[in-house]
Amino acid sequence: MTEAEAKEAELLWGAYEQRQRAVSTLSAFDLSERELENRMRLGARTDVEALKSILLAVANTSVDLHHRKMAHYQLAILEERDGQPYREHLAWAAKYQLLRFEQDGVQKVRILTAGELDSCPSCQSQSGRVLSVGDALCQMPIPCAGCTRTLVGEAPGFCRCMYVADLN
Ligand SMILES: [Zn+2]
Ligand SMILES: [Zn+2]
Repeated sequence: MTEAEAKEAELLWGAYEQRQRAVSTLSAFDLSERELENRMRLGARTDVEALKSILLAVANTSVDLHHRKMAHYQLAILEERDGQPYREHLAWAAKYQLLRFEQDGVQKVRILTAGELDSCPSCQSQSGRVLSVGDALCQMPIPCAGCTRTLVGEAPGFCRCMYVADLN
């Protein structure tokens, strides 16, 4: 293989990997590769761009609150990797999680941190905190203010805390 061929193969492999990753993300929303191709026809230039626009549509219009939450979370991951603002997506993901608890009649939630490696002092200071779903919706303690964690990008703030139902 020449160097040019190697470069070409690398690009093709990168594109293949990107497509596989996009398809696997979409499968969690019961969507297929066809959705991706539709977006490309509508003007998306890359798989990632197509994926983001599909996820935004799910986040804004799905009747399933869990899908809305997961779409925002996936968008946060993609934007963090691309060096774009992502905290708002984390906040929306947390909000839809709370709205789903509310829908299910859950009264109180507890904050669960992601463990020592994936949480920062700010996250840990809220570990185990219990509050009503209504208070959580008002105060929005997740994503934690002043979080210093990153995922793969450079901008700190990728708080991995989550709410669990507190049934006591
Ligand atoms: Zn946190
Ligand atoms: Zn943190």
